[in-house]
Amino acid sequence: GDTVGDNLARTAARHPDRLALVSRAQGLRLTYAAFDAEVDRVARALMACGMQAGDRLGIWSPNRAEWAVLQYAAARAGVILVNINPAYRSHELEYVLRQSGCRMLVAAERFKDSDYVAMAQAARPVLEGLEHVVHLGTPSWEELLAGAEATDPEALRARSAGLDAGDPINIQYTSGTTGFPKGAMLSHHNILNNGYFVGEGCRLTERDVICVPVPYYHCFGMVMGNLAATTHGACVVLPGEGFEPGAVLEAVQSERCTALYGVPTMFISELEHPGFDGFDLSSLRTGIMAGSPCPIEVMRKVIDRMGMGEVTIAYGMTETSPVSTQTLAEDDLEHRVATVGRVHPHVEIRVADPDTGRTLARGQTGEFQTRGYSVMLGYWEDPQRTAQAIDAARWMHTGDQAVMDEDGYIRIVGRIKDMIIRGGENVYPREIEEFLHTHPDIADAQVVGVPDERFGEEAMAWVVRREGSGLSEEDVRAFCRGRLAHYKVPRYVRFCIDYPMTVTGKVQKNKLRELAAQGLA
Ligand code: ATP
Ligand code: MG
Repeated sequence: GDTVGDNLARTAARHPDRLALVSRAQGLRLTYAAFDAEVDRVARALMACGMQAGDRLGIWSPNRAEWAVLQYAAARAGVILVNINPAYRSHELEYVLRQSGCRMLVAAERFKDSDYVAMAQAARPVLEGLEHVVHLGTPSWEELLAGAEATDPEALRARSAGLDAGDPINIQYTSGTTGFPKGAMLSHHNILNNGYFVGEGCRLTERDVICVPVPYYHCFGMVMGNLAATTHGACVVLPGEGFEPGAVLEAVQSERCTALYGVPTMFISELEHPGFDGFDLSSLRTGIMAGSPCPIEVMRKVIDRMGMGEVTIAYGMTETSPVSTQTLAEDDLEHRVATVGRVHPHVEIRVADPDTGRTLARGQTGEFQTRGYSVMLGYWEDPQRTAQAIDAARWMHTGDQAVMDEDGYIRIVGRIKDMIIRGGENVYPREIEEFLHTHPDIADAQVVGVPDERFGEEAMAWVVRREGSGLSEEDVRAFCRGRLAHYKVPRYVRFCIDYPMTVTGKVQKNKLRELAAQGLA
């Protein structure tokens, strides 16, 4: 099989002069030839530090060019890259470095108001296995690169040739939406193929320029962004280190991006940006919305107002490299806004009864399960959790509820853990959220279940009002009454300006539930 490092070398040989990566905050533009040469240099530098195939290398940084270079350099040298959440502080950093047994850490110097140098130093003394800490700055990164000279290019060639595509090259942590993140162990084979098929789903070619505001830390950035691009010779544009809607719109306009990625909340804040109408987004053709439920109304606006006529929705999880289903430009509009598409090439999917393991009929709601090349090797050093997630028949249990229609399109109903049971009726928050999105004064809506003495649970809606709106709690309930079954009408309505989020841009409903419980007590 193909490895990530070899695949990049082939693309670079095919399109040496095309742009591979633009990092706007750093003022850096790298062609495929330059990117590939830099990857080679860093891979040799890693070897000069004594990094062996299978050793772990932590990367703790917001989106920067070095992140991408290191991703491919590690893969080329057979070193396992461990992605570390940029929001972590010293205690969590220490946990991840210890759990994955990192021999080396490459970290930014700072991000926003956080001093990464100080935090890395604080974590260091107690970590015996951690031999090298390199910061992305001068002199630390420069010193690392200078070491490349000590490794003969032939030694790197020999190392790469000895790698197996089935070897792990990543420990990617899940978003931590439902609890502590889990480290999914992924191989070259897993992510290289998934990146390629995601790119196929967007019809990417070497003429495409993809704006990637989603973090590299997560598979959305590193697989659906970098690997989809490099397997098709496309260019990745990084609009900045953290997400800022104005910087994204600016990047699309100036770089003439043809594709834009984002989780739904990112698209919402881009559409709500006060200067939105002033940007020229006419270069946009496609893109991907993924990561959490994609509201139908938001999808429609992305198509109509952002001009992303071929935009796709992808569904997946870190544990499955990540994508399992994707809508395609040729699907009819209704399926493209309201479903997550059909099964991805070369994987199996089904909707099953999670308890009996029986496959359910079309139209029935059950757990989404998937099987095939994309399923992770397992959670890093956690056989117990791995066995809970992947059953004896190799089906990955996603924990998401879904329905498959007659034509094979999947609708994600929500996470099993988020379902509300009110007086014996199953209430799916997603359905209420979709409905609330149709109100002209509502910019965003999240619904969670809160405890109730009489009914067991009641729905609570957390609503972000559009600027200048005087919408009241009672207005929201009145809007729902008569249009939704009485048991779905949120008993409680709360207004807020944003939601507790993961770094990957997902709403942490567990935190909303905690906040709700405090308010009710
Ligand atoms: P953790 O597993 O640590 O609690 P997480 O599940 O959010 O966090 P990820 O692997 O980043 O971590 O996300 C996968 C989950 O995201 C899926 O299980 C699903 O719930 C949700 N998801 C992803 N894409 C979509 C989509 N298009 N529509 C609805 N939900 C989606
Ligand atoms: Mg998960």
